[in-house]
Amino acid sequence: MKPKVLVTRVIPDAGLKRIQQVCEADIWPEVMPPPYSVLKERARGVDGLLCLITDRVDGDLLDAIGPQLKVISQMAVGVDNIDLNAARVRQIPVGHTPGVLTEATADLAFALLLAAGRRLLESVEYIRAGKWRTWEPTTLLGADFSGATLGIVGLGRIGKAVARRAAGFDMRLLAYNPTMTADEAAAVHARLVDFDTLLRESDFISIHTPLTPQTRGLFNRDVLAKMKPTAILVNTARGPIVEMEALYNALTTGVIRAAALDVTDPEPLPPDSPLLSLPNLTIVPHIGSASVWTRDQMALMAAENLIAGVTGRPLPHAVSQ
Ligand code: NAP
Repeated sequence: MKPKVLVTRVIPDAGLKRIQQVCEADIWPEVMPPPYSVLKERARGVDGLLCLITDRVDGDLLDAIGPQLKVISQMAVGVDNIDLNAARVRQIPVGHTPGVLTEATADLAFALLLAAGRRLLESVEYIRAGKWRTWEPTTLLGADFSGATLGIVGLGRIGKAVARRAAGFDMRLLAYNPTMTADEAAAVHARLVDFDTLLRESDFISIHTPLTPQTRGLFNRDVLAKMKPTAILVNTARGPIVEMEALYNALTTGVIRAAALDVTDPEPLPPDSPLLSLPNLTIVPHIGSASVWTRDQMALMAAENLIAGVTGRPLPHAVSQ
């Protein structure tokens, strides 16, 4: 008999077809994720769960699924929606999809740095509002990149890939990553500094840490106040790392110049959120890994983890075994 699995959304065929060769797969068909209570019911009795960042996976859910559950395979990097401790005590391995989304997410981080720095959103709005009448010497002036300082918070896979891109723009690079050696940072031409130095000296700051108890709310009012008034903040990591109300206040009172977010808190923001109408804030809908090749590879890796788990083998890409 084939192992039973629940896949909590329609994922690219590259992964889905592989799963269906080996497993009896129940695939949640809707655009919106299954509500938690529905997920609990639907996952009852499965051997494997393939989930996304929009699914809360905690001890209650794992108990509802039952003791036969052999693997949690998340199609993402960043497993802050999963209670890893609850999985560990139940000896359920957790898989993720590191590496394959690094370049796409770094591309998007750099796109947002450029968009916020060169005021692309405002420029598009300017044309759409019929304001473009001639070449103007003092209109829509933005930030310079060459020679500017980029501070990277979290110099892991994606942070380093952003550093490599910044080198091509002749930027000076600072990084904050408490556990890293200076030599590892120097390999991508970044100088390791303490957090306050990074905040004080950076013209641009790009966030690439996981969401943990230490990074939740890291960019609060006090931290934003330590940035340059001309600085630009980009977050492609996780929404709750930046306090939304503090960011709104910083952007409307000149504490920092501009920001760009791929991730927000909550996701999505409510339609009446005042953040959505700020001219100096660019927001895109969590599309860091949204390129064709990347999503295929993520689906394939998540499938490999799921299949390994349900057939009793170690996960090839494990957060914890
Ligand atoms: P990674 O290779 O694990 O890099 C994370 C880096 O952050 C590591 O070097 C880590 O250091 C460091 N770090 C941890 N806590 C820190 C802290 N308090 N202060 C400063 N640095 C800290 O992960 P990645 O692949 O680069 O991904 C990073 C994050 O990006 C993920 O966790 C996820 O939340 C997010 N992400 C977003 C998207 C998107 O679509 N927007 C796509 C993929 C990933 P240690 O290893 O020493 O702890």
